Amino acid sequence: MDLDPIFKRVFGDDEPERLGSGWWSGVTAVFFGMLGLFGALCLRYPEWLTTPSVRAAVPLALAHGLIQGSLALSFLAGLLSGLLRKRKVLGLTGVTFALLGSLIGSSAPPPAALGERGVFGLDWFALNLLLTALVFVPMERAFPLRPEQGPFRPGWTTDVAHFFVSHLLVQVSLFTTLAPARVMFGWAATPELRALASSQPLLLQFLEIVLVADLTEYAVHRLFHGVPFLWRFHAIHHSAQAMDWLAGSRLHLVDILLTRGLTFVPIFVLGFSEGAVYAYLVFVSFHAVFIHANVRLDMARLEDWIATPRFHHWHHSAAAEAVDRNFAVHLPAIDRIFGTHYAPKGRWPDSYGISTNPVPEGYVEQAVWPFTGRG
Ligand SMILES: [Zn+2]
Ligand SMILES: [Zn+2]
Repeated sequence: MDLDPIFKRVFGDDEPERLGSGWWSGVTAVFFGMLGLFGALCLRYPEWLTTPSVRAAVPLALAHGLIQGSLALSFLAGLLSGLLRKRKVLGLTGVTFALLGSLIGSSAPPPAALGERGVFGLDWFALNLLLTALVFVPMERAFPLRPEQGPFRPGWTTDVAHFFVSHLLVQVSLFTTLAPARVMFGWAATPELRALASSQPLLLQFLEIVLVADLTEYAVHRLFHGVPFLWRFHAIHHSAQAMDWLAGSRLHLVDILLTRGLTFVPIFVLGFSEGAVYAYLVFVSFHAVFIHANVRLDMARLEDWIATPRFHHWHHSAAAEAVDRNFAVHLPAIDRIFGTHYAPKGRWPDSYGISTNPVPEGYVEQAVWPFTGRG
């Protein structure tokens, strides 16, 4: 049965339609993406696109739920199609509709106040993925380290799933990031200390946060490498065999929560101003992605001061001489001080990953792997 010749003409996709070819998931992605996008537009511009009687009959919360459901289904189906099908146009169209719908929907009046929205942030996920992709995809095209490596390299769907889950649970992880510091170190955060730290110029506070955060990150990161039980969680991050902007999000939830929770402790205790902390959060969300990116930029002059892709790519190298080196996220000087710096001038690693390669591919497999005795 030729379901939809228009579809084929519009998308220039003449591959087979049988089950498992990615055709049905692609069609599902486009259909629900359009539905969700339309629903989001209705939410955003109710006075133009909906009638008062419909508005009265459909509870806003239900409409939000259905639209978010359509967008999520479209997104997942789009990913599945992208995975199964050689031509990515159907899947990408569905994903684009889903992202657009999420963006438009997120600027619509919320069904309840922000604090009561629950723990899922599909809009946050969509916004972040879109913005990050908008910055890094063109950058990787313009200055590629490995030009032959496309955005759809092996393992990319696993990494999108990691990106998806960590952003979907943003409110949960924000809570677990802040709670341990508040509960355990509330006593240490005195008003005097806060007054002292937050009265400094913003730029100085920002630099201090970078230093304090990276000292903690260095210590926690080294523990993740040194303690066998913790290494099983961090090994997920090192299982990436191709480096690009998306590979950085390959992190086990235990890794994310422990690292973030502990890094926040000194920032909280010292009591920096909110503006300086936000500035750091924006910086770290860019920098942590950047150091994984598939880009070759001439940063020789900066390399001593700030972590570059070359510095962190060596951390992911499979070569024996680079194992357990370059633990810092922002400041290579910390590795120099503690004798763990490794970045031979002008050279890049040949390959990435763990030489024994014990970690399975796939999000669910990686989420449970540290708890199994395997590998
Ligand atoms: Zn590491
Ligand atoms: Zn990394």
